Amino acid sequence: MDLVQLTTKFSDHSCCIEYLEALRWPEGPVCHYCGCGRSSRLPLEHRQKCLSCNRSFSVLLGTVFEATKLPLPNWFTAIYLIADAKQGISSLQLCRHLNVNKNAAWLMQKRIRRAMKEQSYLQGIVELDETYLGGSRSNKKLAEIQHKKIPKAGMLHKTPVLGMYERE
Ligand SMILES: [Zn+2]
Repeated sequence: MDLVQLTTKFSDHSCCIEYLEALRWPEGPVCHYCGCGRSSRLPLEHRQKCLSCNRSFSVLLGTVFEATKLPLPNWFTAIYLIADAKQGISSLQLCRHLNVNKNAAWLMQKRIRRAMKEQSYLQGIVELDETYLGGSRSNKKLAEIQHKKIPKAGMLHKTPVLGMYERE
């Protein structure tokens, strides 16, 4: 998904909430406090009331978006920009791209980076190797190679496989 598709798909707060609810609660809302799966939707926007402990909760509770006053589409765009920036992105750049104030950009960046670190399956020293799998081109008929315009050299006709290994 590119940035244009992202901002089109997640254009307002409600569609972001719907997306997060489906992602977090595929079987329906689960109470953040007691884990109960029975709740009713409150007339108050996007909140649920637990039928067991009677507390109210939203899908944002316990996430990077908790208690935010910024619109969720801004958050989604910030996540995209941070994840996409191979060389990193400064909070000042975020501030300009999202048209939010410096403090808000800094807070978003801090929360998103922390969440990404916590969610990372591979940390510390990671070894990486690649190989190419596939039949030798010499086994293929010359006619087939010419018909499909398979390059005579290189690995284009093989499947690249990437392996990662965490030392610790
Ligand atoms: Zn509950």
